Amino acid sequence: MAMNALHAEHMRQANAEFDDDNARITPVMTGEDGVPMPIACGRGCNFCCSMEVAVTASEAINIKQYVETTLKSSLEKIKTRVRHARRAIGDKNEIERKLAGIMCPLLGPEGNCSVYPVRPLGCRAWVSTDPDLCREDAENPLANVQIAQSTTLLGFRENMHQRIIAMEQKNGATIGFFELVRALHVAWQTPNFEARWYEGEPILESARYTPTQASVEQQLSRKAGVRNNQNNGA
Ligand code: SF4
Ligand code: SF4
Repeated sequence: MAMNALHAEHMRQANAEFDDDNARITPVMTGEDGVPMPIACGRGCNFCCSMEVAVTASEAINIKQYVETTLKSSLEKIKTRVRHARRAIGDKNEIERKLAGIMCPLLGPEGNCSVYPVRPLGCRAWVSTDPDLCREDAENPLANVQIAQSTTLLGFRENMHQRIIAMEQKNGATIGFFELVRALHVAWQTPNFEARWYEGEPILESARYTPTQASVEQQLSRKAGVRNNQNNGA
C-alpha cells in the first residue's frame, strides 16, 4: 500500500515549503560578534552523514517509497545497504556509531545523498560553516566539537515536524521520532508496513529515537555555537 494521497501531498508540501523558506534566507550566518559566516555545505560533502537522524514515520515512509519508485533500479542495493548498516549499528549510540565509522546507508556511490529530494528535515536543517569541524566531529566524536548551527533552519525544521506529527495524529497513526536507519530497516522487513502503520499498530517501537546521555550533552554544548541566519528580507 502506498502512502495515502493526501498524506503524500502533505509531505511533498512540507519539503517544498522548507526548501522555499530556505531559499529565502541568505546562505550566510552571523556570528555573535556580527562576523558573517558563509555556509560551506555542498554536494558530496558528507561528514555529517555519520550522525544519527531522527525522523517522523512519515519522513521514513516518504524515503522508502521514493526508493521503491524513483530509484527502483537501485532498490535491492539500497535495501541491502540498509540491512548491513542496521546490523553494524546494533544498539550503538551516535558516538559509538561514529567511532565505528558507520555512515548513512543512503549515501550514493559518489558520496552524495541518493534520496536528496526527500531527505529528512533533520538533514535539510543541518548546516555548517566549516567542513573541517564536521570532519573532526565525525572522526573524533569524543572531542565534543562545536558546530555553529542556524537557528532559523532549526526553527523551520521544528515547525514542519510539528505539522507532520499533527497530521499523523489526525490519521490515528503512531507518532513520535524514530532513528532513520532502524526505521527504514523495520519498514522494509515488515509485510504491509504502511497499511499497518496507518492502522495505528506500534510497529516502529524498536526504531524509536532515544538520544543517549552522551548525545544529549553534546547537543547541549553545541547550543553554545548556535547562530542566527540573517534574513535577506525577500
Ligand atoms: S554539515 Fe558539514 S559535512 Fe555536512 S555538508 Fe555541511 S559542511 Fe559538509
Ligand atoms: S538521508 Fe541523505 S543527507 Fe541524510 S544522512 Fe542520509 S545520506 Fe546524509
